[in-house]
Amino acid sequence: MKKKGLLIILSGPSGAGKGTVLKEVMKTYKNLSVSVSVTTRAPREGEVEGVNYYFKTIEEYKQLAHDNAFLESECVYGNYYGTLKSEVFGRIEKGQDVVLEIDVKGAFNVLGKYKDAVSIFVCPTSMDELKSRLAGRGSETAEALERRLNAAMGEIKEATKYGYVVVNDDVKECADDVIAIIKAEKCSTKINNDFINKLTGGNS
Ligand code: 5GP
Repeated sequence: MKKKGLLIILSGPSGAGKGTVLKEVMKTYKNLSVSVSVTTRAPREGEVEGVNYYFKTIEEYKQLAHDNAFLESECVYGNYYGTLKSEVFGRIEKGQDVVLEIDVKGAFNVLGKYKDAVSIFVCPTSMDELKSRLAGRGSETAEALERRLNAAMGEIKEATKYGYVVVNDDVKECADDVIAIIKAEKCSTKINNDFINKLTGGNS
C-alpha cells in the first residue's frame, strides 16, 4: 500500500545554515522534495529562478494570492514569501516527503492547517556564530544585518514550539539528526493508522 508522504517544515534564523543542512540531507535521503517558494525579494548572486525561488513582482505575487495559490504567505524582512499549494499536495499524495524551508510565522500557519506536519527548528551554536555567518555572506547592509539579528533572536525564542530542535554545529551530524527525525516520524502510529487498518481489514 502506497503511504502518503510527510510534510516537513524546516525553520531557523537566516544564517543558521538550514539550506546547507538540507542539501546534506538530500545527498543521502532521496525521497525528499523541496518546495520552491515564491518571493518578491530580489535574487542574490548565484540564485536561480525555479531552483532557489520563483522570483515575482509584487503585482504577480498579489495575483497568486488572489487566485488562492498559497498554502501560506508571509511578509519576512520586508519582502513577501509564500508556499505554493502546487509544490506540496500532489507530491505528498504520490508518497514523496516534501520539505518547506519557511519562517516561524509561516510554520505556525501551516501547523494550524496541517496537523501531521513535522516541524524541525535549526539552531546555530551561539548568537556570535550566527552574527559572523551573516556578516560573512556580504550580501547585507549593516542595517539589514542588524534587522536579521534581532529577528533571529525572536525566532529562536519560538523554537520550543516546534516538534524538534537540531543544532547546526557540524553540518553532517545535523543532517543525520534531521534524517533520523524523518525516519522515526515515518514509523509513527499516526502515519501508519491507514496501513494497520488495511492489514486488519479495518478491525484494529
Ligand atoms: P531568504 O531571503 O534568506 O532566502 O529567506 C528569508 C526567510 O524567509 C527565511 O527564514 C526563509 O526560511 C523564509 N522563507 C522562505 N520561503 C518562505 C515561504 O514560502 N514562506 C515563509 N513563510 N517563509 C519563507
